[in-house]
Amino acid sequence: MEKVIDVSNLVKKYGNFTAVNGISFEVEKGEVFGLLGENGAGKTTTLEMIEGLRKPSSGEISVLGFDINSHLREIKERIGVQLQSSAYYHFLTLKEILDLFSGFYKKHSDPKELLKMVHLESKANNFVDKMSGGQQQRFSIIASLINDPEIVFLDEPTTGLDPLARRQTWDIISEIKKQGKTIILTTHYMEEAEILCDRVAIMEKGKIVAMDKTHQLIEHTKHPYRVEFILEKDKPEIISQLQKSCRLDECDIKKLPGKEAHYEMKLKTQTDLNEAVGLLQKENPESLTVGRATLEDVFIELTGKAIAQEEAEEENA
Ligand code: ATP
Repeated sequence: MEKVIDVSNLVKKYGNFTAVNGISFEVEKGEVFGLLGENGAGKTTTLEMIEGLRKPSSGEISVLGFDINSHLREIKERIGVQLQSSAYYHFLTLKEILDLFSGFYKKHSDPKELLKMVHLESKANNFVDKMSGGQQQRFSIIASLINDPEIVFLDEPTTGLDPLARRQTWDIISEIKKQGKTIILTTHYMEEAEILCDRVAIMEKGKIVAMDKTHQLIEHTKHPYRVEFILEKDKPEIISQLQKSCRLDECDIKKLPGKEAHYEMKLKTQTDLNEAVGLLQKENPESLTVGRATLEDVFIELTGKAIAQEEAEEENA
């Protein structure tokens, strides 16, 4: 596989604070690579250093085989960066913005085709701030494609969108991937990352705590099975029976916020799962759902572990 991004020992410090703490990763041509992490984990800082918008404190970045320090101009010709909709000129129409942007590059895509791709051809003469949030977001994605880039950077492309608009954005991202472009994105929506990303890196306080193919991360989670159930009323004896039914540390059961007796149980083996479901069925639950772990479970497990470790280190210090 061809490497299009190569990041090595990357560090970004703001004064005494280390926002990105020695991370290394590669992105392959044609893949969708997700950077995930809690607020402040360092995702945007990392993206912006690769885009050449922020200067690293140390470390190396190579994009499309070019060193970012010596060949930024060449790199900028060949990458696309999604801007926030507030960054566009409000006195220009969509078509005028695209025409203006295309003038900045040697290679261009056809503005009409781009607008058509996201069903905005009828809005070509509208102003960005007169459009809905979903339309603005769709426009900001195609504006990043004006130079027909090989790599597209999307920072939280669906934040603030309703579920339908979010799904429309997923379709657009899939379409961009189909064109053979590489996509690197950040998101707080684990469902979105699970659907779109071939590989993800999970960041925690400036470090990468896990990185793998998305489905591999899920398969290797501590508790790959989950059961969610609602009992008619809370029955602590059933919960302790369920806890006893699995061996020590083989399951994790917790009450979910909201309803009185809504629980989530995470289990390690199929045998534990069968046993738990058998026990619960006898209780005639109002609802009983059985499923596999999700990327959200992996994320919570990993970031929770990192926080617990940090607290333990602080206590021992
Ligand atoms: P979010 O998900 O909230 O967007 P993020 O993972 O993208 O977060 P960054 O925006 O990269 O995180 O910020 C990482 C850390 O660096 C945060 O603690 C942030 O406050 C800090 N930071 C970012 N930019 C600056 C700056 N210009 N000066 C000082 N600190 C900064």
